[in-house]
Amino acid sequence: MRILPEDTSVLDALGDREAEILGRAVDWCAVNSGSRNLEGLERQRALLEAVLTRLPGEVENRPLNPSPEVGADGVVREQPHPAALLLTVRPEAPVQVVLTGHYDTVYPEGSPFQTVRTREDGALWGPGIADMKGGISVMLAALEAFEAHPAKARVGYRVLLSPDEEIGSTGSAPLLAELGALGHVGLTYEPAMGDGALASGRKGSGNFHLVVKGKSAHAGRDFASGRNAVAGAAQVAAALHALNGEREGVTVNVASIAGGSPLNVVPDTAVVRFNVRVPDQDAAAWIDREIDRVATAAMFEGLSVHRHGGFTRPAKPFDAGQQALFEAVKQAGALLGQTVLWRPSGGVCEGNNLYAAGLPNVDTLGVIGGDIHSETEYAWPQSFVQRARLSAVLLMKLASGEIDAPGLKALRAQS
Ligand SMILES: [Zn+2]
Repeated sequence: MRILPEDTSVLDALGDREAEILGRAVDWCAVNSGSRNLEGLERQRALLEAVLTRLPGEVENRPLNPSPEVGADGVVREQPHPAALLLTVRPEAPVQVVLTGHYDTVYPEGSPFQTVRTREDGALWGPGIADMKGGISVMLAALEAFEAHPAKARVGYRVLLSPDEEIGSTGSAPLLAELGALGHVGLTYEPAMGDGALASGRKGSGNFHLVVKGKSAHAGRDFASGRNAVAGAAQVAAALHALNGEREGVTVNVASIAGGSPLNVVPDTAVVRFNVRVPDQDAAAWIDREIDRVATAAMFEGLSVHRHGGFTRPAKPFDAGQQALFEAVKQAGALLGQTVLWRPSGGVCEGNNLYAAGLPNVDTLGVIGGDIHSETEYAWPQSFVQRARLSAVLLMKLASGEIDAPGLKALRAQS
């Protein structure tokens, strides 16, 4: 692999646009787009659509199915999502790339964390600057620059910008599966780790809600006829927690018990919420059976347990196809003087979904930063152009065939 003169002009153009690449990400962070803030998400979507239309191809607003949410009262309600944005460029080209990002954040409408400031050490500190409005700006910058490359006709791409990644992508999961099947290689713009490392293998993840139903009664006059759902939920929680350590790599995090009643009433409803991480499909099947066992075990007479939720993202092992793709990214980075490292991550993202759909992918091509999902989230401004250049080189080397996209896809199919 080497850098040609036409590649150099693409890379130089990115350097010239640094202020714009940073500035638009900072502006986007000032729009609150918490996963449940529909109005804010709509505003963010419109801003992104305006940038997408600067690229060739067709922009679509793809409506998403609502996702079920179990309330503290045990009732399941449908939660709507705004549309996902999908840009399709040159779908007939011999190499097809799928690029994904999410425009929701973890910060709700009422969060005090709403704008980007510059820290004393120069880092940008703000909601979504790393995860992943900075990453979206990097992705779009790389594509904009690539459109000036003479070999662009060899690469077509689909860009998906989704509104529900931070709550498990249940709405956009069908779209991720559809796109995963259509591409040769996937590029997703989650932030890299603090030292710039990419995430290699990822576990699978599931979110579950067990609704415990008992019987309400007056705690003084009629205590014996009550069936205490909170006490049952506590036993369910303890049984779930006891699964930790039972199987290599499987963790169960009991996150909350919701529900309850006034002090003089036996509570009839409680909801146990928990997250499960698994290293592979066999482990997922094992924990699935264990959850069923816990849910059907009689905690005590008169209680029932209903199970909701499930696995949202399958595991993403670092198999031969993934390793070959990461080696290619490493070589591309070396052309720019960038050292590309990787290690496994405990987190999950759209890259898990794309992998499950048969698409080899790198999912941490966004900016370098840290403290994501907290009010100290930050990103290093110098990483924006660096990472846009890395993606631009990947696109140019996919176009030249030096990175063999169909070969990588075939390797994934064998694993
Ligand atoms: Zn993210």
